Amino acid sequence: MSDQPEHIQCLILGSGPAGYTAAIYAARAGLKPVIYQGLQPGGQLTTTTEVENYPGYPKGTQGPEMMEDFKAQAERFATEVRWGMATKVDLTGPLHKVVIDDQTTVQTHALIIATGASAKWLGLESEQKFNGFGVSACAVCDGFFFKGQDVAIVGAGDTAAEEATYLAKLCRKVYMIVRRSEMRASKAMQERVLKTANIEILWNSETKEITGDKGVTGARILNLKTGQERNLVITGFFVAIGHQPNTGIFKDWLTLDETGYIKTVPGTSKTGRPGVFAVGDAQDKVYRQAVTAAGSGCMGALDAERYLAEKGIH
Ligand code: NDP
Repeated sequence: MSDQPEHIQCLILGSGPAGYTAAIYAARAGLKPVIYQGLQPGGQLTTTTEVENYPGYPKGTQGPEMMEDFKAQAERFATEVRWGMATKVDLTGPLHKVVIDDQTTVQTHALIIATGASAKWLGLESEQKFNGFGVSACAVCDGFFFKGQDVAIVGAGDTAAEEATYLAKLCRKVYMIVRRSEMRASKAMQERVLKTANIEILWNSETKEITGDKGVTGARILNLKTGQERNLVITGFFVAIGHQPNTGIFKDWLTLDETGYIKTVPGTSKTGRPGVFAVGDAQDKVYRQAVTAAGSGCMGALDAERYLAEKGIH
């Protein structure tokens, strides 16, 4: 770490809805925030197409465009948006140090972590090819586009079970592709899935390929027990095999839960380490929506502002 790191009054890591909302509030409070955009500028929404469930856009909008709007609004209030990704931190405090791209060190009294989470994918080439064209990792975001159609969802945890029942309300038929002969989801969620008439569970099954032309038209599924393949005719393919919070660099400094999400004091963005706040998907494995992330970004900025005011730091 260099001798004289740049001092930033309020430093925000991550540029999804949580990070930009934190920036808008922090900037309007005069905290001169600096955002480092991270590996995926704009966050997970930049990988989606239509966004129809974000309030204030009655006709819907495109994910990447919406994030440009978030950015423009943050910049309007003198947020400085920079390229770069935090690669190391020293949160001994009260001045927290953050290394950017293994090169530059900056320091701050108020750090807002909005590094988000990344959906896990199966790793198929066809999954990448149709991402945004029938393949999605968010049923709540994209299920609506498959109203009355047949879709498939992979996974057997609480998310997959919840999303399968969500899709079943919209779609004609939902194939749930489960790799083992049992589900990981809670008993209550499993029962809900099993009781839903238009969900068909394909046990011991693995996706070999998602097929299609401009969009998804089918999937090739292998039964691992019988060795038989089945071709599903579907227009939507949802992946719900878990998320990975982008919190690795904080693990030695903050309390993370068993799956890596940052623990915060309930009802706040406080991490338990003075001057360090966590917002958005980096600390939320349950809701994970743009609007909840934005709301929590606002909480982070307000908590940071109060912290700096109480400490008399300007
Ligand atoms: P989980 O890690 O709990 O489950 C992931 C599922 O995906 C598992 O069933 C796993 O199979 C399957 N899977 C993983 N990799 C593959 C693969 N390559 N191919 C096929 N299947 C695969 O993730 P969730 O997102 O479901 O849940 C995360 C956490 O959030 C959990 O603690 C959950 O309880 C919680 N949660 C709670 C909710 C609620 O309370 N309402 C709602 C949503 C989540 P396998 O079982 O064989 O390992």
